[in-house]
Amino acid sequence: MTEKLYDKDSHLKEFEGTVLSCEKIGEKYAVTLNKTAFFPEGGGQQSDRGYIGDTYVSDVQIKNGVILHFADKPLNIGQAYKCKIDFDFRFRNMQNHSGEHIISGIVHKLYGFNNVGFHLGTEMTVDFDGELTRRQLDEVEDLANKAVYENLPVKAYYPTGEELKSLDYRSKLDLKENVRIVEIKGVDVCACCAPHVKATGEIGVIKILDFEKYKGGVRLLVRCGRDALSDYREKYRNILEISNLLSAKQPDASAAVVKLNNQLSAEKEETAALKKRLIAEMAAGFAPKTDKTAVFEDGLDIKELQLLADALCSNAGGIRGAFSGKDGAFSFAICGEETALNTFFIEFKAALTVRGGGRNGIRQGTVSDTREKIESFFDR
Ligand SMILES: [Zn+2]
Repeated sequence: MTEKLYDKDSHLKEFEGTVLSCEKIGEKYAVTLNKTAFFPEGGGQQSDRGYIGDTYVSDVQIKNGVILHFADKPLNIGQAYKCKIDFDFRFRNMQNHSGEHIISGIVHKLYGFNNVGFHLGTEMTVDFDGELTRRQLDEVEDLANKAVYENLPVKAYYPTGEELKSLDYRSKLDLKENVRIVEIKGVDVCACCAPHVKATGEIGVIKILDFEKYKGGVRLLVRCGRDALSDYREKYRNILEISNLLSAKQPDASAAVVKLNNQLSAEKEETAALKKRLIAEMAAGFAPKTDKTAVFEDGLDIKELQLLADALCSNAGGIRGAFSGKDGAFSFAICGEETALNTFFIEFKAALTVRGGGRNGIRQGTVSDTREKIESFFDR
């Protein structure tokens, strides 16, 4: 049985551990130690990583009560090694996990909802079995951060069976004893196997970034501590750049984006009207010498190509194709009397690299050949 050093001291970074067993599993070596500060994945928290001697440990799992350290190289059974966990990584996990307990405790107290899902990977999500509004979540966030400012002690302990009976705590298990309780004074009492910060001040900041309806309840996206700081840093840089680009003060940035969007929509409408005029003028001045023509015009979408082909065909009859794009990537619409068009289009598809189809006197799609090749096909 491995002594769980992380259970007693969540801030232990280095220790000396003796290898009890070492077994090759896949590419890794599953190592057990007489004692360990490596937390195995559990309770929603990622496993620790670090070194046993100079051998990297990338993952730690607990299976049937046995803690397996997955090492890159084999280790000598019976030898004592200096071990070191990646404490930056652990501390980041603890900041988030302890923050999650505070939020869950407050939500439970205020609204009676239970935490029914918790995931802490590269980001942290917390699920509750009831819906919450942004306003309610703002209140939860305020109270959570108040608990941080008060720097409350976080205590982890194993109560006796008797003590457990009279204890009101979240995340109740079927176990009657050997239940590890994590208590944040006045805020939360919860059964949890993971290491936590020693006092709430270590969390730094608790930020509920976003939320969505999830399985009849709500899923929160939360960042705590250094994760919240990095997030703030990144977002601040972003908003600074956006407001500079828009020449707007930061609080006015979203209003400036709305204004820009409206301008863009107006300009799009104007462009569409201009294109319509262009199409009408092209059709009016269209005097083809043959009964099949391909017309090329930049910047037309498929609807505009349909309009142009249709206008050319209405004006001059025959088979009229409208193309837009560049060599190797043209969009097109071709109009004509259905029987003649059908025969023409079958040959067109056979001669060139065409994707597309249609009916009732119109065909559209894309062709990945050169303009020269398309023109010479129409000029046959
Ligand atoms: Zn927990």
